[in-house]
Amino acid sequence: MRRKNKHIPQRTCVACRQRRDKGDLIRLVHIGDGIVEVDISARRPGRSAYLCPKKDCWEIGLKRNHLERALRTRLSTNSRQALIDYSNNLPGEGQV
Ligand SMILES: [Zn+2]
Repeated sequence: MRRKNKHIPQRTCVACRQRRDKGDLIRLVHIGDGIVEVDISARRPGRSAYLCPKKDCWEIGLKRNHLERALRTRLSTNSRQALIDYSNNLPGEGQV
C-alpha cells in the first residue's frame, strides 16, 4: 500500500490517523500559550499537527484532545472556539 513517490511528504491526521499527502491535510500550528491557528501557508514555525479537511476529524480531534496531545498544549478558549468555527465551514460526513 505504501506509495513510492518520495517527493510528496506524508502526514498523519491526528484524529483518524490516516496518512495522506501533506497538501491534502490542514496544518495547525501552536503559536505559544495555547494559541493554535490554522496555517494555510503551511510554513509558519511552531509545533504543528494535521487534520483532514473534514468536519468529523476536527470534532474528534477537538473533543478527544488528540489535537492538544499532538501539539503538547492546552488549547486556549479562544483558539478552541476559532477552530470549532473553522470546522463548521468544512464538509461533514458524506460530503467529501
Ligand atoms: Zn482525519
